[in-house]
Amino acid sequence: MNPIELSFEFFPPKTQEGLDKLRATRAQLLPLKPKFVSVTFGAGGSTQQGTLDTVLEMGKDGVDAAPHLSCIGSSKESLRAILNEYRSHGIRHIVALRGDLPSGMGEVGELRYASELVSFIRAEFGDWFRIEVAAYPEYHPQSRSPRHDLENFARKVKAGANSAITQYFFNADAYFRFVDDAHKLGVDVPIVPGIMPITNFSQLMRFSEMCGAEVPRWVAKRLESFGDDRDAIRAFGLDVVTDLCRRLVDAKVPGLHFYTLNGAAASKAICGRLGF
Ligand code: FAD
Repeated sequence: MNPIELSFEFFPPKTQEGLDKLRATRAQLLPLKPKFVSVTFGAGGSTQQGTLDTVLEMGKDGVDAAPHLSCIGSSKESLRAILNEYRSHGIRHIVALRGDLPSGMGEVGELRYASELVSFIRAEFGDWFRIEVAAYPEYHPQSRSPRHDLENFARKVKAGANSAITQYFFNADAYFRFVDDAHKLGVDVPIVPGIMPITNFSQLMRFSEMCGAEVPRWVAKRLESFGDDRDAIRAFGLDVVTDLCRRLVDAKVPGLHFYTLNGAAASKAICGRLGF
């Protein structure tokens, strides 16, 4: 039995090769007995079928598999149809998000924020779904101020979320402070740290720039210094992220949610070092 609950996030593969890889990843990660797995959703519904297919694939043999659902660019009618389809497949767990519209793509839609999506799901589907929402220990890149972002997070939870998963971070103190501040605003649901294993320097810097996660200067400098030496990047990344996870586990966080990017090796190695 793991001392804390694990979960793994995947994205819908676009090719047969990608699907084969994901199946192999699933086979390697399921022995770690995750509490659930989740599958991302492209804003505006671009992966709608792929998300469902992947959830059904990952959810075989009784695994709790939760689709993500983003509301930006969608009508209530289309969101209702997707939720009804999820329900008809017996899916009872969902990650509710606003999402990001690709620049130049369409209208905002009928629901502007994740809090409105959570309220919509609760109003239309009652308690059928367990709802996860996103949290940002280093604050959402578009937020007006840290305080405003925290208040919006609290509003989203109060709209009916059962639990939250954070954007990835490498500064544990940002997470601890965020959780304390959220508690002060009356948030009492688990806030599970999102963990990004480090395997690729340029990809990490690109993602982090987009989502507003800070890569500490000393980590970026060291990773950059390894150039094309992918083994050195992986080994150093494994040390850094395992240390972060150890700190979090020692602080008795409610779980760890791994952004696997559909690969098993890095998440498995971290869990192995943690003794899971
Ligand atoms: P919200 O909670 O709605 O917040 C968005 C912004 O609006 C914040 O700045 C917030 O402060 C502000 N805000 C909120 N409410 C109000 C209000 N009432 N008035 C004014 N401002 C407000 N994206 C995808 O496209 N697909 C995915 O599958 C996906 N999965 C994710 C999983 C996790 C665990 C995380 C952390 C992120 C994921 N994302 C995904 C990214 C996410 O969609 C983006 O970060 C998006 O920009 C914000 O989504 P949100 O649900 O956090 O938005």
